[in-house]
Amino acid sequence: MQSILDEIAERARMTRQKGRVADYIPELAKIDPDHFGMCIATVDGECFSAGDADIPFSIQSVSKVFALALALGRVGDAIWHRVGREPSGLSFDSILLLEREDGVPRNPFINAGALVTTDTYLTASSPREALASLLRFVRTACDDEGIHINEKVAASEISTGHRNFALAHYLASCGNLHNEVNKVLGTYCHQCGIEMTCRQLALAGRFLIDAPDMPRLVSPDRRRRIASLMMTCGHYDGSGDFAFRVGLPGKSGVGGGILVIAPGRAAIAVWSPGLNRYGNSKLGTEAMEFFAKQTGWSVFG
Ligand code: GLU
Repeated sequence: MQSILDEIAERARMTRQKGRVADYIPELAKIDPDHFGMCIATVDGECFSAGDADIPFSIQSVSKVFALALALGRVGDAIWHRVGREPSGLSFDSILLLEREDGVPRNPFINAGALVTTDTYLTASSPREALASLLRFVRTACDDEGIHINEKVAASEISTGHRNFALAHYLASCGNLHNEVNKVLGTYCHQCGIEMTCRQLALAGRFLIDAPDMPRLVSPDRRRRIASLMMTCGHYDGSGDFAFRVGLPGKSGVGGGILVIAPGRAAIAVWSPGLNRYGNSKLGTEAMEFFAKQTGWSVFG
């Protein structure tokens, strides 16, 4: 495992075409595109890592996995009346289908769906309390109290988040946000501003594999369902491509991180800030493709 990771990190170092760092959130535009880190946390608690696996990065949309687990814990299957389970085939921040589908976003991993998820775990608490429960969930999952929200990134996203504001107001106009729009947006942008290292993210991702030493954060049924949504919707309009190339469920974020689940085996986190045309980490995707090929790990046998 270690030699595969070392080879991946070396290939990443040598690659010239690293993709483009997200610049629509000004704080993210400042990140050095040469970073590359990867960590595998196995079902029995072993960790293998390479490159910048201990440098924190903005997990952005990877947070949507934890947020969904938290929201499901609050309201259970009732959430599926407010958000769908189909891939959108459109970019992460698209507003196109919302009108046609009466304000019910296609899935919880695009921005519109994630705003509904945030609204769900926010209900009956203040944004501060809601974010504290989300952080508690993530910290418990990786048994690490050192995970925080980068306020600068959150503020930066709020200052340029016109598209998310438009999505949230559209959802509210359809009656699919139950809290004050600005509260939902503030909570959502802070959720995206969580920073984690690859090691922390891989360890936290073990809540989605059957790891015997993990606290039971979600039931096995829910775990399978979250993983299936990661497989079909975890990479926006590049979800089919990721499934085809890697064959494992994953969730990406515009910070360049990807959390991948190899059910029953390991959780894997990879980070490289340059993005491909779908807004998913370019080298992260290539690294996972190589890793899956070398290990033979795939949910398709
Ligand atoms: N915070 C980002 C946004 O809402 C998340 C998008 C992503 O990571 O794909 O624009």
